[in-house]
Amino acid sequence: MQKRTTSRINSILIIVMCLVSIVLVGSSVAMLTGYSKTLHNGAEVLGLVYSKQTSDDFTKVMNTYRTRSETFAENLMGMPMESVDELSLGIGRVNKEKQFKEIMFIRYFRDGKEYSLGDREFDMTREAKSVLVGSKTGETFCAGVVEDFNQSISAVAYCVPLKNCAYADCIVLYYPTGPFFDSITPSEDSEKYSQLTTICSAEGEIVSIVYRNKNGEFEVQQHNNIYEILKVRINDKNTIDNMRNLVADGSSGSFSVKIAGEDNVVSVLGISEHGTSPFSVISVYKSTDVYSAAYSTVSTVLAELAIFFVMLIFAAVYFIISFRASERRIRNIKEYNEVIGCPTRIKFERVSADIIRQNAGSQFAVIVVDIRHFDYMTDQMGEEKMTEELRRMKDFYSRFLQVHETYGYAGNGRFILLLHYRDEQALAARLKALTTYLGISKITSSGERITLSAYGGIYKTTGDRTTTVERMVERAISAANATSYPFDFDAFRVYNERLHSRNAMNEYIEVNMQSALDNHLFKVFYQPKFNLEGSRPDGCEALVRWYNPETDEYMQPGIFLPLFEQNRFIVKLDKYVYEQVCIYIANTVAEHRQLYPISVNVSRITASEPDFVSHYIAIKNKYNIADNFLTIEFTESFAFEDYERLRETVTTLHNNGFQCSIDDFGSGFSSYNILKELPMDEIKLDRFFILKGFSEDRDLKVLSSVIKLGRELNMKVTQEGVETKDQLMLLKKLGCNVIQGYYYSKPLVQGDYDDFLTRKFIL
Ligand code: C2E
Ligand code: CA
Ligand code: CA
Repeated sequence: MQKRTTSRINSILIIVMCLVSIVLVGSSVAMLTGYSKTLHNGAEVLGLVYSKQTSDDFTKVMNTYRTRSETFAENLMGMPMESVDELSLGIGRVNKEKQFKEIMFIRYFRDGKEYSLGDREFDMTREAKSVLVGSKTGETFCAGVVEDFNQSISAVAYCVPLKNCAYADCIVLYYPTGPFFDSITPSEDSEKYSQLTTICSAEGEIVSIVYRNKNGEFEVQQHNNIYEILKVRINDKNTIDNMRNLVADGSSGSFSVKIAGEDNVVSVLGISEHGTSPFSVISVYKSTDVYSAAYSTVSTVLAELAIFFVMLIFAAVYFIISFRASERRIRNIKEYNEVIGCPTRIKFERVSADIIRQNAGSQFAVIVVDIRHFDYMTDQMGEEKMTEELRRMKDFYSRFLQVHETYGYAGNGRFILLLHYRDEQALAARLKALTTYLGISKITSSGERITLSAYGGIYKTTGDRTTTVERMVERAISAANATSYPFDFDAFRVYNERLHSRNAMNEYIEVNMQSALDNHLFKVFYQPKFNLEGSRPDGCEALVRWYNPETDEYMQPGIFLPLFEQNRFIVKLDKYVYEQVCIYIANTVAEHRQLYPISVNVSRITASEPDFVSHYIAIKNKYNIADNFLTIEFTESFAFEDYERLRETVTTLHNNGFQCSIDDFGSGFSSYNILKELPMDEIKLDRFFILKGFSEDRDLKVLSSVIKLGRELNMKVTQEGVETKDQLMLLKKLGCNVIQGYYYSKPLVQGDYDDFLTRKFIL
């Protein structure tokens, strides 16, 4: 269970780490994307700055031409211009001057109409509208490029208003485009950074290519339309439309675009004059050229992050897969007992939960089957034989099961089964089959014939979905532990409400035991024993009870001792009872009253403590107790478990003036070896002997022979639980030395016991 939690914590940790890494990578990407946006903006600005150099240069050229045009008009205006002839003459004369020799031809405007020098009216549709517009502005104005394809003429037109001229409003001077544009030199930056720098007309026609990178993207010619050129490359109608608007307005702007997968900047710089714009400088820059270092850093980092991200995903997937695989492997180990070839309790619980869920309408019973005295039996038979036995049991169970049933081995001689049943009788019959299988005697390693027997507990499903299978197993186990062994051999006990309330009681006990001990609520009772042979009292047995001052009641040890054995509190309690007894003896001696031996019970857990013997001796010495007035009662089951140790313990106790007794003889797996091998002073026959033994002739023989054997081995034979005169008479006849039981006296509180002794009650 704990491992399952740790592995769950591990996987959560890995997932959290992955998530954190993903978030970190994500935020880095977001930051870098933000940063690259800034870079885009920066590149856009730089594009404009570089284009501005070209536009400044170009503006200078335009200014030169404007000044020239204005000088022309000024010169003209110094002459008489009252008629067509005077005007033509004047223009002709000015035109002859050296500085104007470049002018291709000259026209003039009157009342919005254009005339050649011969006063011939021109068709305006053939010329740029801007010329017409410019003619009305009253200021000198470049009207852009005017083309006459019929005569393959291409010229730059300048309109200059003619003040004080009665005959014409303005003149238009046409310069050849070649020299005009050729005087623009590409700036250093243009050459360094741009792929293409052009001057375009308001309609986007390339009127001049200022710079073109020969290795670049752009194979352009004069008269190409810049939009057509860009359209196929940047594939973004929006940007093209925005450019078109900027150019038409003569405004400026810059766009980040992708050309052949690379970041580029297209900048538009309008050269506008008096509300119209004849020209725009349009340039294309590679972003990495204008912003080289930062761009490559960002893209490198982005690429690295992308690789890292992919690797992270791979690592996470790899981890999850291998984690799952190892979990599966661990689960297999946890779920299968290789030695006996059987599913474990874990697997049993998992499979059972599925079965119960899928068959909600059926009744199920969880059954634990325990081999009685498993450790002792294993010692007797040897590991190997026991394993063989377990395998055989497992085979039997696997054949025994029907559909929707399962089984598992929980270790220590315990099998768990899930059976479904229709009625109690059918279930009882099947349980019988289960246990009789075991009741076949086996030969031990020493050649002795022993019988494996089983006991168990049953938990019947109630349809309550909140009870987990783990709980069901626990309850079946608590029912098994509650079998009133030894009275019903091979018995199965059903978990029921009483057991349930016992669990609640157990909780109460565990919470209150220490304070009860501290507050002396554990009280020692003394049950007198009677010596049949000498017709005299034969001391007593000290028995503990738990006093409840609130109800003024005593709780019987049968309720709390099993729990104290589980939680080891019994060690403290045994020592406490023992010391109380010693104090009582010391007081009796001090008060000069007659002293009889007292027996104290020692649980196998207390007796297994490393300091058990030394502590008991030390207390005996502390209260100065004379030899042979203390008898230690060991249970028969302790003898089973650690035979050698008990022998050593008994020897040391003997050497220190204790008497030793074997308690509850006949209740468990009685072996006469114990009697023969252990140097006990007393054998106490379990109440079971006289309960059962009196009714059947055969059992009577057993009782008689045990008494005989005990006596032959020089042991005092004491029968417990004697309640009737008949029992007493019979025991006397059989040669039993001592009796203890309600017939003589119940266990008594100390004062009553003292009184009892003074009365010298004789049977
Ligand atoms: P036990 O050692 O076999 O003690 C005898 C039990 O039989 C006592 O039960 C006693 O009250 C009861 N008994 C005596 N005469 C009769 C009779 O005529 N008829 C019937 N039916 N019962 C009789 P109790 O006092 O309930 O103690 C139960 C068990 O608790 C004891 O069995 C003993 O094993 C254990 N125990 C009691 N005190 C201590 C203790 O201080 N330490 C340890 N480790 N175990 C103790
Ligand atoms: Ca006892
Ligand atoms: Ca007993």
